[in-house]
Amino acid sequence: MKSDLSESLFQTLQDAEARCHLLQSVVVHANDSIVITHAEPLDAPGPQIVFVNEAFCRMTGYRPEEVIGKTPRILQGPNTDRAALDRLKTSLQQWQPTLIELLNYRKDGTEFWIEMSLVPVANAEGWYTHWIAIQRETSDRKRLEAELLKTLQKERELSELRSHFVSMTSHEFRTPLTAILTAAEMLEYYGRNWTEDDRLEQLRLIQITVHRMTQMLDDILLLGRADAGDLRPRPGWFDPAAFCQLLVAEFQAERGSRHRWQVVSRLTHQTVYLDQNLLRQVLTNLLSNAVKYSAAGSQITLELSDRPGWVRFCLQDEGIGLEPQDFPRLFDLFYRGHNVGTIPGSGLGLAIAKRCLDLCGGKIRFEQMPTKGTQVLIEFPSNQAL
Ligand code: ATP
Ligand code: MG
Repeated sequence: MKSDLSESLFQTLQDAEARCHLLQSVVVHANDSIVITHAEPLDAPGPQIVFVNEAFCRMTGYRPEEVIGKTPRILQGPNTDRAALDRLKTSLQQWQPTLIELLNYRKDGTEFWIEMSLVPVANAEGWYTHWIAIQRETSDRKRLEAELLKTLQKERELSELRSHFVSMTSHEFRTPLTAILTAAEMLEYYGRNWTEDDRLEQLRLIQITVHRMTQMLDDILLLGRADAGDLRPRPGWFDPAAFCQLLVAEFQAERGSRHRWQVVSRLTHQTVYLDQNLLRQVLTNLLSNAVKYSAAGSQITLELSDRPGWVRFCLQDEGIGLEPQDFPRLFDLFYRGHNVGTIPGSGLGLAIAKRCLDLCGGKIRFEQMPTKGTQVLIEFPSNQAL
């Protein structure tokens, strides 16, 4: 009988020991980091660490002997959220189990996010003796959250920009549409009593306005493509001086410009590596402004030069010039200077030029000329060959 009793006691003890061993190996080998500290002091220097498992060492880079006897505050750093730590301290003071997300620091100083579950452990008499902290790294989740937030923010900004763009565009289309309608109505009601020349003039007005609207549509489509990321630079080698000579000749032929043109090359390299189409977009808009905002017969000069890694185009006209108050908004959509008077335009040319320049990593700068006219400088980063 007696031996039966001791047999079962022995069995119980053996079971307890096996259970204890099992639990210990769970704690030691768990995938989550486990830290056990004394229950107090909660104020500085904080409770001492009495145990850390293998996962803690993998996560933080510390060895057990480097942290035992220290406090978990060694894991905190300048970017750890003070407010979160205060909230943590308040729950600890009330012996409340707590779940918290914190930014911690590894031994090598790198930051990582953890989600930590803290529970107080009491002894047989009901006194709290230790805290057990189970921590899981959440850096990847945090990074994904931040990226998602950034994408959402960008989407929101884009959609605001789009609706702003749509309302501005519809407003800009209304004016020429009204002009076309008025001209057509005038022709309908009074045309019979007009001379042939007056009738032709009204028809020409309609044609010019339709042409302007088509140009505006093309510009808007191009801007849309640039904003949607559809315009990608496709650089190639070419001779920029020959390219500019040809562009100016085409420009003169197409638009019948009566200005005095000069293309000057001070290039030290014969060829550059650039996207010709984007360069054409930029220069065409700048040339068109130089022509539009200066009188027939005045001089327009396009000068090419370079410095290591950059090619520069400087366009100078003798026109109406720019007013200082317009400088900050020149690249805004539909923005037109205060001094344009009746010179036609939609205020899209420079917005397009700027987007094309940005795509190539280029720069643009306007200069007010001391006498009269405007000077605009554009620069593109480029490989160069002799
Ligand atoms: P669009 O080019 O769409 O037909 P726009 O010429 O008015 O219209 P931008 O080319 O974007 O529009 O130019 C914006 C404004 O900058 C112009 O309205 C004008 O006030 C000013 N500007 C640009 N270039 C010159 C220039 N060479 N001389 C004087 N003003 C200029
Ligand atoms: Mg323009």
